[in-house]
Amino acid sequence: MCREAALTAPLILGAGPAGCAAAIVLARGGAEPVLIDRDERVGDALCGGFMSWRTAESLRGLGIDLPALGAHRVGRLRLFAGERQAEARLPATAFGLSRHAFDTALRQMALASGARLKIDRARGVAPGRIEGARREWRSDAIFLATGKHDVRGESRPRQGDDPALGLRIRLPGGKRLHDLLAGAIELHFFDGGYAGIVLQEDGSANVCLAVRKSLLAGAGGDPRTLLDRLAADYPAFAERMAGAPAGLPIDTIGSVPYGWIATETQPGLYRLGDQAAVIPSLAGEGMSIAIASGIAAGEAYLSGRSAPQFQRGFARRSRRPVGAASLVWHLAENPTGALALATMAKLLPASAGLAMRLSRID
Ligand SMILES: Cc1cc2nc3c(=O)[nH]c(=O)nc-3n(C[C@H](O)[C@H](O)[C@H](O)COP(=O)(O)OP(=O)(O)OC[C@H]3O[C@@H](n4cnc5c(N)ncnc54)[C@H](O)[C@@H]3O)c2cc1C
Repeated sequence: MCREAALTAPLILGAGPAGCAAAIVLARGGAEPVLIDRDERVGDALCGGFMSWRTAESLRGLGIDLPALGAHRVGRLRLFAGERQAEARLPATAFGLSRHAFDTALRQMALASGARLKIDRARGVAPGRIEGARREWRSDAIFLATGKHDVRGESRPRQGDDPALGLRIRLPGGKRLHDLLAGAIELHFFDGGYAGIVLQEDGSANVCLAVRKSLLAGAGGDPRTLLDRLAADYPAFAERMAGAPAGLPIDTIGSVPYGWIATETQPGLYRLGDQAAVIPSLAGEGMSIAIASGIAAGEAYLSGRSAPQFQRGFARRSRRPVGAASLVWHLAENPTGALALATMAKLLPASAGLAMRLSRID
């Protein structure tokens, strides 16, 4: 659908990072976009917390400065696999920031740029039409940015028998955690998953896990039992979790289709963020892909490029980072592969730098 043929304002379904990035570009280009989200208030999404240097760079282009939001500076990657620990410098400074702070800044910038926000929960999407719980929305250009959540009519394919699940717990800040974690993003590899740990702007530590469903099932399906078992088996992880107050909430998210890339779309339907490409989360590049896809889709619309043209181009751009991250994820989730990764990073820190660079979106 080219811009000249558009009869109505473009609709962006989902006011997360991808949707807001598209809204900023479209609004600044004079397209008067309407953002639709199910939530009036910005929450604190489970997934995120680590903002790569590439994310920071794209955000600067949109006028958002992560240090000004109080983000924690991160310069090193620390890996834990069995008894082995390795450390490598990041190619450039990254940041730890809560999704609440991040999503709030993006949403404010989208509104300040001229986008309008409407609250509705989409039940289905079809060409030219969003079926909301409150009303039907129509436009020749729809930007699908519902992230992890599929909408009827445009669902992504189901994953196999043992999909990845996400879990998150937020540890209250304090000197002990600060001394352990300051300036680093940590990846703790387990048999069947990993935990990423990074400090946030308020000094708390975001502990985010991606594990196979079977690992959680082995803990009776109870996230708290799973965390206790992992702490019993992995001393460095236990050290981070030590002293966590009992009963801290654990957020969970179901089946995550890691590795999925949208190679095609229907005319008039631009797929963004996790609806365009799902990079394994241990790369810490999902946010960057979300922002990059929002910017690229907005620019494609403004310059009259069709949605299928945009989608094919973005699929090509995503292939290398998603492929590189998928390879590392598959190695990391089994003990032998994880040990090999940590050993390589210890003996040859440049190899970790290369893996980090290959898993960034250009
Ligand atoms: C366990 C885990 C950890 C991760 N950690 C990181 C990390 O540290 N760093 C990183 O860069 N990436 C990380 N990611 C990836 C990152 O979270 C995603 O790639 C990113 O959130 C995608 O942004 P998005 O805008 O596409 O979707 P989302 O952030 O999911 O936003 C979607 C928006 O759509 C709205 N919405 C959804 N459904 C509807 C509906 N039916 N109607 C109306 N509105 C709707 C939601 O309210 C939300 O505002 C992680 C992912 C996982 C699974």
